[in-house]
Amino acid sequence: MKLIFLGPPGAGKGTQAEKISEHYGIAHISTGDMLRKEMREGTPLGKAAKGFIDKGELVPDEVIIGMVENRIQAADCQKGYLFDGFPRTIAQADALLSISDIDMVVNIDVPAERLVERIGGRRMCAGCGAGYHVSMYSKDTCEKCGAKLFIRDDDKPETVLNRITVYERQTQPLIDYYKAKGLLRTVDGDRTPETVRTDILALTEKLVSRLRTRLTLKR
Ligand code: ADP
Ligand code: ZN
Repeated sequence: MKLIFLGPPGAGKGTQAEKISEHYGIAHISTGDMLRKEMREGTPLGKAAKGFIDKGELVPDEVIIGMVENRIQAADCQKGYLFDGFPRTIAQADALLSISDIDMVVNIDVPAERLVERIGGRRMCAGCGAGYHVSMYSKDTCEKCGAKLFIRDDDKPETVLNRITVYERQTQPLIDYYKAKGLLRTVDGDRTPETVRTDILALTEKLVSRLRTRLTLKR
């Protein structure tokens, strides 16, 4: 199963992607998480990416495409994968066409005016990169590793507005791109995480039975 989760920053892609990938035993590929790991480790890629990320700009397509191309070769991608935060531009989507097929694109829809307040409540673990939201988790240390939580530089209000603009300009066109390919499904992301997850699971379960039928027909 190969999925893409599409949606503006703060839509809850990461939260949903974590649960859904776990449910199906497929790899969760978050380009944002991969870039932040490079930044934490201070690699050349991480240092180059930081300048873009902290301004709310996109990291150049070539960098992202190379990173993803490598990532999907890994053993944990055998059963499938879920892209979270990729592709983010038409150029990335075009490049993806030549490295992988995709079964479904889930568009998590949240109105722009809700995003700023949602992102304002976001916290991240300095140790392992786990994400939290103050509305659901009130401690200031990580549940998984005990390290301190902090506010991501690119989650500060000045940067958030630019990220939303960048999303509207560069990523939103992917909605029509995947609609035209018949791959797009939209869920209302402006509800509780559990409700959104139930909707997504209904879509993925339908996909699973479709994929099964396809396999049976091939035999
Ligand atoms: P969010 O979904 O909240 O915007 P992400 O963790 O997906 O957060 O991304 C954080 C930042 O990392 C983006 O603002 C961008 O600078 C960079 N980034 C992540 N994925 C990509 C991508 N596919 N292409 C370009 N830049 C990316
Ligand atoms: Zn942690």
